[in-house]
Amino acid sequence: MNKFKRFFTGMRFLVFLVTFLAALIPAGLLSYSFLRLYESKQISTDYSQITSQSKLLANQIASTGYIDDPSQVDFLNAEMTALANAYSGRIMVIDSSLHVVKDTYGAEEGRTIVWTNAVRAARGETSYTVDRKDHAIIVAAPIPNLTYVKDNSQKTAASTDTANGSGEESSQADIGPYLGVLLTVKSTEYISQNFSFYQDSTWEGLLLTLIFAGFLAFFFSRFLSAPLQKIIGRIPKIQDDSEDSLPVKGYRETREIAVEFNDFKQKMQTIDSSRSEFVSNVSHELKTPLASIKVLADSINSMGDQAPIEMYREFMGDITHEIDRETSIINDLLSLVKMDKSGVSLEIKSMNLNDLMESLLRRLRPLAEKQGVELVMESFRPVVCDVDEVKFTLAIMNLVENGIKYNHEGGWVHVTLNSDYEYCYIKVKDSGMGIPEDSIDHIFERFYRVDKSHSREIGGTGLGLAITWNAIKLHHGEIKVSSILGEGTTFDVRVPLKYIQEENQEEKK
Ligand code: ADP
Repeated sequence: MNKFKRFFTGMRFLVFLVTFLAALIPAGLLSYSFLRLYESKQISTDYSQITSQSKLLANQIASTGYIDDPSQVDFLNAEMTALANAYSGRIMVIDSSLHVVKDTYGAEEGRTIVWTNAVRAARGETSYTVDRKDHAIIVAAPIPNLTYVKDNSQKTAASTDTANGSGEESSQADIGPYLGVLLTVKSTEYISQNFSFYQDSTWEGLLLTLIFAGFLAFFFSRFLSAPLQKIIGRIPKIQDDSEDSLPVKGYRETREIAVEFNDFKQKMQTIDSSRSEFVSNVSHELKTPLASIKVLADSINSMGDQAPIEMYREFMGDITHEIDRETSIINDLLSLVKMDKSGVSLEIKSMNLNDLMESLLRRLRPLAEKQGVELVMESFRPVVCDVDEVKFTLAIMNLVENGIKYNHEGGWVHVTLNSDYEYCYIKVKDSGMGIPEDSIDHIFERFYRVDKSHSREIGGTGLGLAITWNAIKLHHGEIKVSSILGEGTTFDVRVPLKYIQEENQEEKK
């Protein structure tokens, strides 16, 4: 992976980016909403100020009859001019037929205005528009008809008044509720100026935030990734053995990683040393019979033709014995390796264990007779159990064979078979020599023998119980041992009646 790709796909860059954006985005959004809020607040203040002033002016227009003859009401003209100047804008008075009666600019006088706002105001609705292009707010307010009469009785009274000569007022009353529209235009240039002033300040603030966020993100990402970087840096040193373990430091997650890694390393070391121990044990065990064969063959050879035929026979018998021993070690090793392999396949069948045990004991009876050991089998009920016939037979056979081998003449081996609704139970009890207490924990280890020379004498390889242990574990069973030195040993085996396929084995299938 090249340097750039390494950097951009790393945790440090991600933390940097997230921290940076987490600081910058809210700052940007805040600035934007502040500017928008300022603008709308100013416009709404302007609108309410113009509206209240428009109302006053509209009432004055209505009460003075300004619409009928604007030139007669000078003070209003002056007032409008002053207001237009104050607003840096313009004021227009429009009559009910939308003719412009007065325009402080003078440009539109006499013309007809059909702006939507003006039309709406003529119907009594006050409204405003914001002209962003020309920076102005335009408020259209109705000019009320102060003499407008609503109901008919008042109307009759009004017509009597007409008869009395007040014809002007009655013509106004006929116009309707509104005499016209007062249109006020106020420049919002100052809002735009303030807006760009605030905008500039906001940009400056954002730039400072950007620099600050950059620094913060840089140091934060460095701080967060530092313990991981240290771990990454130390792993190669541990691999080349220049360091022993990862230091348990930093925040909780890295401490946990370090602890897990150290545990894992410890396990690997244990596996590695037990593997080398196993290899050296295997070579030693395989070399011993070969060395004996060589010594026997060499001594016959060295005698040449002098060697008597009896000696030949005796030595050849010893050589055959050593070859048998070598073969049984190799066979045991092969059985062990087969059961050791991960994902070992079992040929599970529902077996009648009473029959299986009978046939197993039948095979061992000659050995028992030879040793002068009584072999007894007792079964409490018919037991049917899911087992791999070959591996299960091997496991139980090793136990019974040991009971016979490590026994004395006139001794006994009792085998019992029982079950409940969940498990089958096999007990192998002997009256043999027993196992010393400090050896009990080791007897299932490969090549472990309590008394090496005695075990070898009786043809032991030190692998039998290791095979039994593996086979029972493959059946998800348990094996326990209890022993009293000089009195005898009992092995208790418990195996589930129904074999439960492990999930990963099922998946493989
Ligand atoms: P081996 O092939 O030497 O019998 P095992 O793995 O079967 O190897 O047994 C390991 C050791 O445990 C034996 O060497 C023996 O010392 C001891 N052992 C096993 N079973 C018995 C028993 N029933 N009585 C006494 N000692 C036993």
